[in-house]
Amino acid sequence: MIIRQFPCLKDNYGFLLRDEASGAVAAVDTPDAAAIDRELEAAGWRLTHILNTHWHPDHAGGNLALKARWSCRIIGPKREAARIPGLDEAVGEGDEVRLGEAVARVIDTPGHTLGHVVFHFLEAGCAFVGDTIFAMGCGRLFEGTPSQMWASLLKVAALPAATELYCAHEYTEANARFALSVDGANAALRRRAAAVDAMRARGAPTVPTRLADELETNPFLRAPAIAASLGLSGVADAEAFAELRRRKDQF
Ligand code: ZN
Ligand code: FE
Repeated sequence: MIIRQFPCLKDNYGFLLRDEASGAVAAVDTPDAAAIDRELEAAGWRLTHILNTHWHPDHAGGNLALKARWSCRIIGPKREAARIPGLDEAVGEGDEVRLGEAVARVIDTPGHTLGHVVFHFLEAGCAFVGDTIFAMGCGRLFEGTPSQMWASLLKVAALPAATELYCAHEYTEANARFALSVDGANAALRRRAAAVDAMRARGAPTVPTRLADELETNPFLRAPAIAASLGLSGVADAEAFAELRRRKDQF
């Protein structure tokens, strides 16, 4: 599977996936139909599928324009079926999505929205995580509870550590600032924050991010490990996560 990643809107990423065996091409989310069309043209690819992670307009807003042009099949979260424009196939936890010979397993990750899903391509070693997890960050809790989001993050954290996580936004520099404020003693985090600053200074994307690196540096995944240093010893993991998320909202 070949992946093309390109900036869209202010800080979104667009992703196009092509299964070489069949020629099937999927857009993961549709932040900007025109940008996706330009990328398809540059690659010489024909769009056959859209995989939506959640209903937010910067993720599904280009669905109808792309469907009108390409008659592509739109696959998205069952629990948001009514809010995904042009949806053809509703999927949820454990379902398989086929893109030619490439297969993704669907993981329900409620929290940012209630129906949010992640598409995990086991063989390709990558997962499209939408707004569930970001490099050194996680999505805001617009619809779900902290314990729902914590359970969702644990599911992502349980994927193979070498998995490349394709996050939907370039939020990494700001996330690193917050991470340092709550986990500044973490040497791996300090090294990574410096590396990210250098990457951004030359305009390089910090997405995808490897799960192994998130396990070491993402303060939300590290909630249980850093709870004590935040004065939260003895609280449940989900509660430590909730407090970190509250602090980030006010950072
Ligand atoms: Zn969103
Ligand atoms: Fe988003």
